[in-house]
Amino acid sequence: MEQILLRDTYAEIDLEKIAHNIRVMKDVVGPDVAIAAVAKANGYGHGAVEITPILIENGADLLAVATLSEALELKKAYPKYDVMIMGYTPDHLLKIAFDYGCIITIFSHKQAEILNKLGSTRIHFKIDTGFHRLGLSCDEESVKTVQKITSLKNLKVEGIFSHLALSDKEGDAEQFKRFTNFIKQLEDKNIDIKFRHLCDSIATTRYPEYRLNMVRLGAILYGMSGKGQKLPVKQAFTLKSKLSHITFVKKGKGVSYDYFWKAKKDSIIGTLPIGYADGYPRRLTHNGIVSVHGKHVPIAGVICMDQLMIDLSEVPEAKPGDEVILYGDEAGLPISKIALLCQTNKNEILSRITTRVPRVYI
Ligand SMILES: *Cc1c(COP(=O)(O)O)cnc(C)c1O
Repeated sequence: MEQILLRDTYAEIDLEKIAHNIRVMKDVVGPDVAIAAVAKANGYGHGAVEITPILIENGADLLAVATLSEALELKKAYPKYDVMIMGYTPDHLLKIAFDYGCIITIFSHKQAEILNKLGSTRIHFKIDTGFHRLGLSCDEESVKTVQKITSLKNLKVEGIFSHLALSDKEGDAEQFKRFTNFIKQLEDKNIDIKFRHLCDSIATTRYPEYRLNMVRLGAILYGMSGKGQKLPVKQAFTLKSKLSHITFVKKGKGVSYDYFWKAKKDSIIGTLPIGYADGYPRRLTHNGIVSVHGKHVPIAGVICMDQLMIDLSEVPEAKPGDEVILYGDEAGLPISKIALLCQTNKNEILSRITTRVPRVYI
């Protein structure tokens, strides 16, 4: 795609890898399990509007996001796609969600009544099986609530779902049991809800027996697989920049704020036009590495808001304008490694990349 880049720092998104990943997952779950492709947080940083057609064309049955604002962005671009809001939509915003034809998550009779007054609305019930975040609790009272709601004539109840804590096998099994028991109680009252879903990426790979007839896949579609899990998915996101400047620093001299980093010997220092305001974690000041000419080199000094410095002493041939990869599989710097270095998870690394970083699609 032709695109004038206004910065040397950009994220390269490989759409073919995303297409490959959703096809792999469709194969894994089989024809009887629907896939809700999760494209919240701007499609985990990849650009929700750009990637969702790829997801739909290669096997996703619907799109799922966290918030109304995310749903509207997709609905405005693609009125025909089914978009589900998995999070809570405040009462006063339900009309907007309704107007755009979103699939809405509810867990109260009050919200059901608001929607029923607005007109025909597609909904999923959220059930709290132990995560303690959102949802109707798994009890008699909730069975009655669901029963009342399903009798409202304008509501099209399409799904029921919950979310696993993934704390341990036993806990997850307990949640699964609570969920299926709850569904059983509904069935005993002749309430048959089409889509039942509990699994995110990790649960889908870890517990094939919990997939029911729909899964909600996020991370894995972008090529971020769980620990010890061997699916052939590919990381689609590569963060790149170019050297803006090179300078020579004498032994003992400092670099960046507070002179936290001091040259142990005469050193070559390279500057990159990327900083924590781009979403590159400031925490990597202490242990970050980047790839230059295929070599891994350390960050030198405190990461600034818009720039950072690297120690190029081992790559003396590097010159201004040369490409640097901050993370990306091809450089041997998977996002999992970066996440480990700053003690967070892969999703946080990606979803924090800000709009200042242009996305380039290949
Ligand atoms: C974000 C989210 C998912 C997707 O999680 P991944 O681990 O990225 O697959 C699934 N379900 C809910 C409710 C979510 O909020």
